[in-house]
Amino acid sequence: MMLTRRDFAKLGTLSLAARFAPALNAQAPTKKVGYAVIGLGRIADHFMRGALNTSNSQTTALVSGHRDKADRIAAQYGVPSGSIYNYENFDEIVRNPAVDAVYVALPNSMHAEYTIRAAKAGKHVLCEKPMSTNVAEAEAMIAACKAANVKLMIAYRCHYEPTNLRAIKLIRDGALGQVQAIESTFGFNMAPGEWRLSKKLAGGGPLFDVGIYSLNACRYLTGEEPEHIAAFVSTIDHDGRFNEVEENVSWTMRFPSGIVAACNTTYGAPMEGYYRVHGSKGWLQVDEAFSYDGLHLHADFSGTQLDEPNPSQDPSHFQAEADHFSHCVQNNLEPKSPGEEGLRDMRYITQIYHSAGITA
Ligand code: NAD
Repeated sequence: MMLTRRDFAKLGTLSLAARFAPALNAQAPTKKVGYAVIGLGRIADHFMRGALNTSNSQTTALVSGHRDKADRIAAQYGVPSGSIYNYENFDEIVRNPAVDAVYVALPNSMHAEYTIRAAKAGKHVLCEKPMSTNVAEAEAMIAACKAANVKLMIAYRCHYEPTNLRAIKLIRDGALGQVQAIESTFGFNMAPGEWRLSKKLAGGGPLFDVGIYSLNACRYLTGEEPEHIAAFVSTIDHDGRFNEVEENVSWTMRFPSGIVAACNTTYGAPMEGYYRVHGSKGWLQVDEAFSYDGLHLHADFSGTQLDEPNPSQDPSHFQAEADHFSHCVQNNLEPKSPGEEGLRDMRYITQIYHSAGITA
């Protein structure tokens, strides 16, 4: 069925319009993909700066509860005032042809609602990690995007980051021989008052927020899915920060090949995000593996020593991430980190909590 934009406007109701919107959103490869950015906090800032450096992505709308903040950011990115929305009138983006996709950068518990509302408005969705706060939400997000025929990508930026990609390639090429074991950590000292300490908003503690990087890394480094998981949680600091979420999570995973992984995450200590992979021919380690910059790969295998600092700056892998999703939208391709990838991590997070004796 062919519809002109005038026909589309005449469809009248939001739901009818949304049904046909994806077909109209199919991009000619030369038109930039326009993003509505929802949740104008820390990560949104990194994303918008990264997108600005691409040739195929641009911020075309903003969604915020704070009009003054939205006005300031709109001026920075050339977003017209008519393309600034709030959480109540967000669904009106269905009528904004400058919006092809929504980048969801809200607290975790809001990802599902706004992904589903964006899909119903016929917009593609790039959603921050963790995908959701539980498996059911993640499944509903995938179903909504499928029903609306829009793409869903989870913003696992390390999948687009050169040093992590280099580590994966070395392992796949057999440089380390048979991988036997992996260690990985990531955590920090959480300030009081953060939404990340609210179970309702965050879903859980450091595992949802930063431990997920180690979990996901063990999966992309091995190329396998864990078949057994065992975990412990603990809270040491009884200073009010951990009334709702745990402070520490420690877990181990066994993969089908026999590779074992040991991971730690915390909100109680400045714990570097890193991994070390041990193989029959040597080892590989990436320091600051999950940071925005300063990543550093070291390796020693079969008489070869590698010492490779990554000089790339902050926006580069946010740029690669935006570039990839826009490319998928423009060319009707499946993103490398689709909703199903986020769902898998939600399932493992649930298993980790289950093993530790708590309900996620
Ligand atoms: P943030 O606190 O800096 O920003 C959150 C935004 O959501 C703010 O603009 C805030 O105004 C808005 N918001 C709307 N309703 C809110 C509510 N009820 N409570 C609190 N804020 C509310 O958070 P952030 O660090 O940008 O994290 C946002 C999302 O991005 C999280 O899901 C987080 O896990 C993810 N994240 C991803 C990365 C990454 O590297 N991919 C890094 C940091 C955060």
